[in-house]
Amino acid sequence: GNTQVAMSNLEKGKFINYQRIEDNLAIVRQRLNRPLTLSEKILYGHLDDPHNQDITRGVSYLKLRPDRVACQDATAQMALLQFMSAGIPTTAVPTTVHCDHLIEAQIGGQKDLARAIDINKEVYDFLATATAKYGIGFWKPGSGIIHQIILENYAFPGGLMIGTDSHTPNAGGLGMIACGVGGADAVDVMAGIPWELKCPKVIGVKLTGKIGGWTTPKDVILKVAGILTVKGGTGAIVEYMGPGVESLSCTGMGTICNMGAEIGATTSLFPFNHRMTDYLNATKRPEIAKYAQQFAYNLRADDSAEYDQVIEINLSELEPHINGPFTPDLATPLSKFAEEVKKNNWPQELKVALIGSCTNSSYEDMTRSASIAREAAEHGLETKSKFTITPGSEQVRATIARDGQIDAFEKVGGLVLANACGPCIGQWDRRDVKKGEANSIITSYNRNFTGRNDANPATHAFVASPDIVTAMAFAGDLTFNPLTDTLTGNDGKPFKFSDPSGFELPPTGYDPGVDTFQPPPEDRARVTVAVDPKSDRLQLLEPFQPWDNLKPVDIPILIKVKGKCKNCLIGAINAQNGEANNIQNKITGEWGPVPTVAAWYKSNNKPWVVIGDHNYGEGSSREHAALEPRYLGGLAIIVRSFARIHETNLKKQGMLALTFVDPTDYDKIQPDDKVDITGLESFAPGKNLTLVAKHKDGSKDEIALAHSFNEGQIEWFKAGSALNLMAKSAQN
Ligand code: SF4
Repeated sequence: GNTQVAMSNLEKGKFINYQRIEDNLAIVRQRLNRPLTLSEKILYGHLDDPHNQDITRGVSYLKLRPDRVACQDATAQMALLQFMSAGIPTTAVPTTVHCDHLIEAQIGGQKDLARAIDINKEVYDFLATATAKYGIGFWKPGSGIIHQIILENYAFPGGLMIGTDSHTPNAGGLGMIACGVGGADAVDVMAGIPWELKCPKVIGVKLTGKIGGWTTPKDVILKVAGILTVKGGTGAIVEYMGPGVESLSCTGMGTICNMGAEIGATTSLFPFNHRMTDYLNATKRPEIAKYAQQFAYNLRADDSAEYDQVIEINLSELEPHINGPFTPDLATPLSKFAEEVKKNNWPQELKVALIGSCTNSSYEDMTRSASIAREAAEHGLETKSKFTITPGSEQVRATIARDGQIDAFEKVGGLVLANACGPCIGQWDRRDVKKGEANSIITSYNRNFTGRNDANPATHAFVASPDIVTAMAFAGDLTFNPLTDTLTGNDGKPFKFSDPSGFELPPTGYDPGVDTFQPPPEDRARVTVAVDPKSDRLQLLEPFQPWDNLKPVDIPILIKVKGKCKNCLIGAINAQNGEANNIQNKITGEWGPVPTVAAWYKSNNKPWVVIGDHNYGEGSSREHAALEPRYLGGLAIIVRSFARIHETNLKKQGMLALTFVDPTDYDKIQPDDKVDITGLESFAPGKNLTLVAKHKDGSKDEIALAHSFNEGQIEWFKAGSALNLMAKSAQN
């Protein structure tokens, strides 16, 4: 039919396209002729070319069309500057920017926010105006943490989203495939270029039994992290299934997917169910729930779908867990934890207990923690440890302020921080211990690597559910087990905590709180993007120059790389001297760091090439590994072989990615050769180019170079970059 359901209440005119999933799957099913997992359905439902796309899990690269993009403020700066350089007037898909990472926790929400707005004014002004100019939704500082805002307003079952933050998978709690990516990927999708993802393997987690008592959704992922370890999810989507799913709230499923980032998973995902319907209704999106219901058969796995690995967890038997210190996969069941604390000499005194963050700040989390705080207060207790509360969004903050949970926390000594990342990302002006002093903290966050929260390498950070964190705050001692141990009330009598209880959703509805959203204005032509020319944080980028149609002649070799090369420019070993980041400027003869010499060539209008070894660019799939050499004036990267993603990224940036037809020709090239590249005038798919290596002694070698450019990619090179080409077609 003609059903049109808006993707978000904040974006009229942008619709969910379940029909595309349906149509794509009809094609893919005919080709594959096998049952599909849920993640396969959603991914293949977003294929750019379902007829011709190669589909082999763990092998092929999928070209996908995501529904939306989200950026947090730290990563949005570079992404927007790059997008702007293309001159495209509006992002190709709905996009939002969220101010959450730059707010330091010091004395409490309001004051900390005011200070951050002052310190980061330049960045916030840039983001506010750049988003307005290009049709992007802007969430101001104080609005909350990106992943909560996405869950509350933008995530929907069956959607595909990328976000420039590793915990983007949080939206899997609402049945969306949401992946954390680098800024360059976000820019591509914003510009209308398909997003490339190595076709993920699928790990199934079958949940049986029923969650209850002190066990929470957080404990599911703490347990899974213990089983799979920090590497176990690499290249895979973790797909939850089984009857136990029904006992998890939607926000609880969000917590599980959020922290799936800790096992390296591409993302995590739950099938559409009535708990998602309840959450969509509570967040004023009943039409989405109804629409999803119509397509529900596409929003769950096929019977007998095949998984690359299956894990089974019985929720009825699952204990609360505490993970850490220093790594999120060191999982200890609560009943064994006291013993481990003593055995490992972890500092027993608990200094600080921190609840909330993007991972665990739902209404359910807050009401359950408040039930523990209230019970302790009835016995006249305040927390022994310092106790902080980070609401994930302004909506959650306003709702728990209205419903009394904030009062309950403050009554026992809790400090409510800004709706922002704060101590989770090291934005914490911690003063209770000195740097280097061993101490313990426990959080309901997701990450606990050394130094993450407070930059103190001696801080032992543990991760647990908000329930356990809150109960521990009253004991002030890591060996306390709230299920079995008692605390002493101020009447001198011992008491044991009751099981925590709370509300999945606010009984009287959410209170949206202060309006912190800036929609793009109607008249965007008149918006000027604010970039202070004196800024040392921001600098406008010029679009890269198109190819000048000339044959490259006498080009210097920036560096001939020997062996493996991860951080392409700085970490590479120079074949000329065996050192990293020390190369000779072939024009002046001086030696210096790679970026310095490259910048010299650039400012002297001298393009350069890199000669590389095998698997060049491995591990540089993300971020600006390909943007950087292009930005510094690079023309070609010529190697024995490429890591595939890096090769594509170089092409996107308008560089020549070339390989030796005979890999031993690598040895013929001397670091101080000058090179010509011939054949570009008839650059075509499958047709080799030639490298003329001119040696110091006047001799020459002619070397055949292969490439994997297709027609479209050759146009990227000619236009100067894929972004330039998109800009050109947007103007036509
Ligand atoms: Fe990342 Fe922590 Fe912020 Fe969540 S709260 S987005 S994990 S920094």
